[in-house]
Amino acid sequence: MLKSQQERKFDFALTLGDNFYPDGMFSPTDERWQTLWQDLYSPLGLTFYATLGNHDWHASDSPAAEILYSTTNANWRLPAPYYTFTAGPVQFFALDTNEVSEAQLIWLKEALAQSQAIWKVVYGHHPIYSGGEHGDNRVLIGKLLPVLKGKANVYLAGHDHDMQHLKPEGDLNFFVNGAGGAKLRASPAYERTLFSASKNGFATLEADNGKLEIKFFDTELRQLYRYELARTMTTGASFTKPSHWLKGSSSSLRNSHHPKRTHHNHTVHLD
Ligand SMILES: [Zn+2]
Repeated sequence: MLKSQQERKFDFALTLGDNFYPDGMFSPTDERWQTLWQDLYSPLGLTFYATLGNHDWHASDSPAAEILYSTTNANWRLPAPYYTFTAGPVQFFALDTNEVSEAQLIWLKEALAQSQAIWKVVYGHHPIYSGGEHGDNRVLIGKLLPVLKGKANVYLAGHDHDMQHLKPEGDLNFFVNGAGGAKLRASPAYERTLFSASKNGFATLEADNGKLEIKFFDTELRQLYRYELARTMTTGASFTKPSHWLKGSSSSLRNSHHPKRTHHNHTVHLD
C-alpha cells in the first residue's frame, strides 16, 4: 500500500472487518493499538473508515473499544457500528453484518432512499455470496440482499481470506477482499464467480461521475483484476461493462488503463 501510494495518493481507506486478528481490541487504550494499528498503518497518513468483523466481536468490549478509539485518533473512523459518509460522487454505507438487526435494515433502507449520490457503495464484513470457505450467507441473502437490490451499485465484504468478484444481480455487484494479511484459504470458482484469487493484497476503488472502477492488486503491486461500472448520462441508470482479466504481470500493470484524474476522482483503498 505504501509503495502504491508513492505512485498515486489514496484519498482514504476502508476496512472490511476482522480489524484485529484473532481478537478485537480490549479497550480504547489497549497497548496493541500501537503495535497492530499505529506502527503498521500510520505511515500511510490515511483515514480508515472501519467496519466490525466477527473477530472484532470475540471480546465483548471490543466493538465499543474500536468505536471509542475514533475520538482519539484521526486515522481511525468508526463512529458507530453502522454509519454512512459521502466522498465526491460516492456515498458509502458501512454495516455491522455480525447482527443484521431490524433497526439497521430500516436505517439502511432509509439512508439509501435519501441518497443523492451517483454511486452507492455498501460494505460490511460478511459476504452475501462467496465461493470461498464460508460460502453463500443465507441470512444476508434473506435480509440484506432485498434492501440492496435496485438501490446500491456495489457490496464489498471480507471474511473469506481471498479476493473475489461475483456475478451481479441487476446493477448490484459483489466483491470480496479478505486477503489483507491473515492466512490465505483456497477460493475455488463456483457458479457465481467472475474472478477469484487466493493471494494477499488489496483493492482500490476509483470513481467519477461517469464510472466506478475496482482493481485488485497483490503485494507486489501486480494488478490481478479490474472491473468498471459505467453510468449512462441519458437515463442516469448504471450498467456494468463486461469484465476482463489482466494478466498478473508487471507489463499488464504498465499497459492497463489508468483513468485520467479529475477533481471528482476519488481513489479509495480497501483492506
Ligand atoms: Zn471474519
